This record gives sequence, C-alpha cells and structure tokens, in this order.
Amino acid sequence: MKKKTAFFTLICLGVFALFFTSCQQERVAPPIETSNMDLSILPGDDFYRFVNGGWLENNPIPEEFSRYGSFEQLAEQNEEKLYDLLQTIRRDRNALPGSNRQKIRDFFNSAMDTVTQAEQGVDAIAFILEEIEQTGSTEQIPAIIASLHLRGFGPVFSIRAAQDRKNTEEMIANVFQGGLGMADRDHYLNEDSRSTEIRDNYKLFVEKIFILAGYDKNKAMQAREDIMSIETTLAEASMTRLERRNPHATYNKMNLDELQQLTPSFSWNDYLESINVKTSELNIGQPKFLEAFNELVNKKTIDQWRTYMKWNVLRSSAPFIGHDFEQAHFEFYTTVMTGSQQQRERWKIALAALNSALGEAVGQEYVAVHFPPESKERMVDLVEHLREAFRGRIETLEWMGPETKKNAFAKLDAINVKIGYPDKWTDYSDLHIKDQPHVLNVIAAREFNIARNLAEIGQPVDRDKWFMNPQTVNAYYSPTMNEIVFPAAILQPPFFFPHGDDAVNFGAIGMVIGHEITHGFDDQGRRYDKNGNLSEWWTEEDSRRFEERTKILVEQYNNYVMLDTLTINGELSLGENIADLGGLTIAFHALQNKLEQDGRPGEIDGFTPEQRFFIAYAQIWRNHMRDQRLMEQLRLGPHSPGEARVNGIVYNMQEFYDAFGIDANESQRFIAPEYRAEIW
Ligand SMILES: [Zn+2]
Repeated sequence: MKKKTAFFTLICLGVFALFFTSCQQERVAPPIETSNMDLSILPGDDFYRFVNGGWLENNPIPEEFSRYGSFEQLAEQNEEKLYDLLQTIRRDRNALPGSNRQKIRDFFNSAMDTVTQAEQGVDAIAFILEEIEQTGSTEQIPAIIASLHLRGFGPVFSIRAAQDRKNTEEMIANVFQGGLGMADRDHYLNEDSRSTEIRDNYKLFVEKIFILAGYDKNKAMQAREDIMSIETTLAEASMTRLERRNPHATYNKMNLDELQQLTPSFSWNDYLESINVKTSELNIGQPKFLEAFNELVNKKTIDQWRTYMKWNVLRSSAPFIGHDFEQAHFEFYTTVMTGSQQQRERWKIALAALNSALGEAVGQEYVAVHFPPESKERMVDLVEHLREAFRGRIETLEWMGPETKKNAFAKLDAINVKIGYPDKWTDYSDLHIKDQPHVLNVIAAREFNIARNLAEIGQPVDRDKWFMNPQTVNAYYSPTMNEIVFPAAILQPPFFFPHGDDAVNFGAIGMVIGHEITHGFDDQGRRYDKNGNLSEWWTEEDSRRFEERTKILVEQYNNYVMLDTLTINGELSLGENIADLGGLTIAFHALQNKLEQDGRPGEIDGFTPEQRFFIAYAQIWRNHMRDQRLMEQLRLGPHSPGEARVNGIVYNMQEFYDAFGIDANESQRFIAPEYRAEIW
C-alpha cells in the first residue's frame, strides 16, 4: 500500500511492495518448516527469532531490496506470474485497438524501451515545461497548478474526490497539503545528522536534475535555492503525521467564499474552472497550510514559481525519461532514502509502472488464471468466524458499557467484505495508450485516473470500487466505507494455505482479517460509526477507559529500541499496534471456537494447534531491513517493524504463555499481567 494519503483514509496492512528481484521457483511447502526456526532460542526469550532464526540466517537481504521478508517473497512469485501473462499479451498482435490488452501491451513495451526513453529524454515533456515558461504572472498560478494537477504532477497541494467524512453517502472535493519533494516535513526541518544528510543529498539531486535538463551550473544552483526555499516554507506550514491522525483536525468544510477569504492571492474560481470541477463546498485538510501558501504567492517572483513548477514535472518524470534522469532519481529516493544500491531488473520496473497505470486491467488477467474460486469460499467462512469471535470478545469486555457495546455490535455487523477482485472492473475506454515515449503513456494514465476521480465530486458513492489492485500483496480497511478488503494476491502462502490446517490459517490470514476488522475499532477507526461517518458513538466514560488502555501500548512501543537508541513512535504506530494486538487475540479465539466445533486435531510436526497458530503469525512478519529504510519507517510510521509486530504483541497475551507453557521464571520478556496491554 503505497502511501495512500488521508484522502482515502485507508489503513493498510503495512507493506509497500517496493523492491523486487531474483526469481523464485514455486513449490508446495508445508506451512511450517522447522529449518526456518531457531530451536536453540526459547519462545519466552525471543519468539520472533525462535520462529524465524533459520530463515533470517539463510535469506540474506538481496542487493535490490531495502526490506526482504514474507511479503516481498510472495510479491516476487507474483511478479513471475504476471510476467508470464505479459509475455502472452505482448505477443498478441491481434489485440483489438482500444482493448485492454492493446493498452497493456503498448504501455509495457514503451516501459521496456529504454533506447527511446534515452533518445527522447526531456524533449518528451518539453511541451509541459514550455507551458510553465509561458506563465507570465502570479495571477496565472492557479491555471498552471491546475494544468499540472490534471496530469498527475503535485505542486503545492492536491485535490481529490472522497467520501464526505460526515456524510459518507456523498463525494466531495478534498484539498490536502503537499508540494514537497521529500517524504515528510521533518526532512526539511529536523536538525539531526540523518535529516541533514538526507537534505544535503536532496539538494544535490535537484541540482543534478536541472543540469541534466540543460541548465548551467550556476542556474542549477539558483534553482536549488529557490526550490528549497519554497518547499521549506510549505513544510513549516504542514501538519505533522501525528496531527493528521486526528480525523477531526483534517475535516474543515468550507464554501467557496470562505475558501477564497483564506487565500486572497490565489483564485479558486480560476483553479476549479481550469480543472473542470463545479462545486460549492470543499473539505480543506489544512487551512493553515493554504494561508501560508497564500503569503508565499507574492513573496516569490514568478520566475521562482516557474522553477518550482518545472521541478515538480522533472522530479516526477525522471524515472521515465532515460537512464541519466532515472539514475539520479534512484540514487536519491532509493539509495539515500532506503539504503539499497542496485536497480531492479527492467521488466520489474516496467511491471510496477504498468500496475499503477492499468492496475485493474492487469488484475483482471491475473485473477482469471491465478485465483481459484475455492479460495474465496474459504475466506468468506474465515471472515465470519473472525466476526463471530470479535462479537464474543465485545460481549465479555469489562471496561465497556452496554450502550457503547450496542453501537460496537452494529458497526461490526455492518462491516462489508470484499475478497479477491472487484465485481465491477474499471472501464479504461477513455484511456489512450499507444506506441509513444513511455513518459507520455504514464502521464496519459495519470490524467485518466485523475479525471475519473474528479468526476466523482458531487456524485453518489460507488461502493463497488477498490482502492487496491487484485495483484497486490496487501489488505486494507476503509473507515468511511466500513469495509475490509483482501486482494487475490495475499490469499497464498504464507498468509493463506489452501490445504493447510485451521491453526496456521487462523494464525496467518485469520490474524490479517482480525487486524483489518480491528482497524474499525482502533484509536482512529473508533471515531467512525457503522455508516462510516465521523460521529461519536462512545460514552465519555468508555472513551476514557479505551484511551487509558491504549496508553499502555503507547508506552510499551515508545520504549521498544530498534536501532542503536532509536525507538518506535508509540503514538504514530498506535492504530497499527492496536490492530495487531486485537487481530491476533480475536483470531486466537476464532480458532478456539472452530476447534470446539470440529474437534481438536493432534500435534502436527510436534506442535499443538495453539503453537502452530502463533508460529504461523510470527512467520508472516519475518524480514530483513536496511538501516536507512528502518530509520525512515521509525520516523514516518505507522507500522512497527516486523520483529516488534511479533515480540511487541505476543508477550501481552496469556494465550501465548499458555500455548508454550511459559512462566515468569523462564522468560526474558515476560510481562506481568498488571502491565500487559489488552484492548479488544
Ligand atoms: Zn493495518
């Protein structure tokens, strides 16, 4: 789940499929292999390494990866499958013009054609840079920002249609802070040595790109200064990630007059007209950010603004306009930011671009071959077991009163479930992909996706829509839809074992289901009701008790040291940690109900069902991570690193101690009952 913004307020399982390489032979392996474990470690001392020690030892991180674990391995296998499909499609000369197959074929071919990319270089986007050059005064800034936004570039802010968080039947326009070339405001503002290092490299990156685009050294240095100045001002005015976790803070509905008063120097009429949006009301995520932008409009010369706009175009086009640009982009965003030194193979880069351009067209081909209908049936059954177990947990909660419980049951019952792939596929008729420079196909796809989104403003909500491709190894909960979604690609080992026993399936995909359900009841999700509306359904007393309980988890994670003295940010990762703890607890009880129904099997491979449950859980979070990537993850959250998702959770659970017969005396990580976190 690549960086979903708060527009869609999706909460993903926590894995960005970023860097894939090297082929893997598919094989049917048993769900648990003891060679992946380290049986010399006691489960009470370090459960993560007890389960994964062998795997960690035998699977060093490949060069191209900044993180490598279960998600990446499965994603690699998926890429091989997709590549096979693409080979057939690429050979399909009979694909009708305008058909999805023709678009997939031509897009992928243009992505593979590095010769044309290098030959055309920046010339391919010269017409956009020229348009920016023609911007003569600050009055024309709304029009040029609009033109760039429509093509998928992101100067200053972004605009998207999304459900109105207080009236989820309707789609409204949302304006959100943006315009930064680095991932977070902190990268511009923090003074620690890592932030300074990143910032220095970013400046070099800006300079390099402008030199590649034809600037001389002095002019490129000036461009760098102008860009840093504008972006730093925008960063200062940006909300922090922690502030953005409060959905009320980013809900500021305004009519056009109010919005115009906020930014006298930026005409919203001009902007909205240029993007062809007619609306009288918008949600403004960060009004203070727009105020700061308004001040900046006249503080900077039009020449400085033109430089900033060009930077947005060059930066975002760099991966598609030839080796030199691509390399500069890679060196900053991958090597500096994540620590990985090696580019992925060309076809994998091309595939990633294809997935983001024509995701559902590829997904449709993928599920036709690789998604057995039985998997869907088994998932439906699993989800209902999890829902039932959650209901049982709520019933027995001592800290929650009957009134709140009633609303919690209603919300739980209302959760919609999507499994595998959408019932209604995206219609790509209006997207024109052809034999042309890759960057133009990329822009065409972005234009198509943005136009499609903006057309939803003022329209009823499309409940069939998916926010993730079927071929993505991930899952999500949407608070405004109140739904959980499981793409086809995650329904494979080690998450889902079509022929595995219940214990391993409840510990792996069952926990994933429980995790997504619990997001509806974490510190953010609990603010939304059964219809996805931001509205208070908790009594004050119950809210207070919930927060008391979550504080324990915040404290625990704030003290979890991951690298030297760097710890996890307990507040930033709270929602995910609640979902992990709740998800695993609920999945455990769902398994108990199932075993009661069907009868208990004996041990398999020397492990009881309860032990297999926890082992299957710990397996899915095994991974290696480079220090740079880890530092970014700790800073930006919201997911805790894999080790903490295992060890930070299981030692809070009596069910875990019981499963492995661990008592206080024989565990280095034993948490006394009064200090344990227990929420759901
Ligand atoms: Zn999550």
